[in-house]
Amino acid sequence: MLELTDVSKTYRGGVQALRRTDLVIQPGKVTVLLGPSGAGKSTILRCMNLLVQPSTGTVRVEGLPALAARRSLREHRRLTGMVFQHHQLILRYTALRNVLLGRVGYQRLWSVLVPPNKTDLRISLDALDQVGLLGKALDRADSLSGGQQQRVGIARALAQQPRLILADEPVASLDPATARRVMQLLHRVCQENGITLVASLHQVDLALEHADRIIGLAHGEVVYDGPAADVSDADLRLIYEGTPAPTHEDQLAAAAR
Ligand code: ADP
Repeated sequence: MLELTDVSKTYRGGVQALRRTDLVIQPGKVTVLLGPSGAGKSTILRCMNLLVQPSTGTVRVEGLPALAARRSLREHRRLTGMVFQHHQLILRYTALRNVLLGRVGYQRLWSVLVPPNKTDLRISLDALDQVGLLGKALDRADSLSGGQQQRVGIARALAQQPRLILADEPVASLDPATARRVMQLLHRVCQENGITLVASLHQVDLALEHADRIIGLAHGEVVYDGPAADVSDADLRLIYEGTPAPTHEDQLAAAAR
């Protein structure tokens, strides 16, 4: 559904965050990007909806004309929800008003000046219900706990009625127990709504628990790409330390020296 061809990113100042990469994201699956800080996870995620403009290559979305066309890019972004590490809620707004912001892509410019229409309200309340926060709809975002705020962030993404959710370290700011619950929730709502999920995570255990596919990044390069069920300790060493674990033969050879 989403295809990156020869995509790379060098930021101003010369930092090469992503080397030339080809990737196809299949619909309906959970893909988790793993890798140490600075590996390029956030960059590749943001290249997927062109929040970061790639230095080379193209991003293609099934069913849409080339994203170079403004209308096509707008449609892709409308159908792509984003969940951020720091949720990026407007704290003085109620939970509901934050979730309604997910509907902006469906509205005409002037309609932000008038009260929300019934459809947007229904969809937003349904999204809050899906994350278990219907009872908090009229509470200000700054009165909610960190986990609840992140659930509002997920509801806002859901209100977009997306085909794809890009989640950049969605549980990194939460304590381990809350992180686990929020990740379970994100996975479940994506499954129930047929949404493709691409998330970057730094918790290996959560990644292996929730991902269908793991993409391991190191120094801006994909060093592992395969089913989560197949990830070995050697693969994790390659992702996090840049060195494969010694094979049995290596160990025997070392012992003989
Ligand atoms: P990760 O998400 O794996 O931590 P990032 O994609 O955020 O990695 O960053 C990859 C590299 O690109 C890092 O060296 C980071 O410092 C650099 N980088 C990220 N964003 C920018 C930017 N806007 N300008 C310059 N360098 C950046």
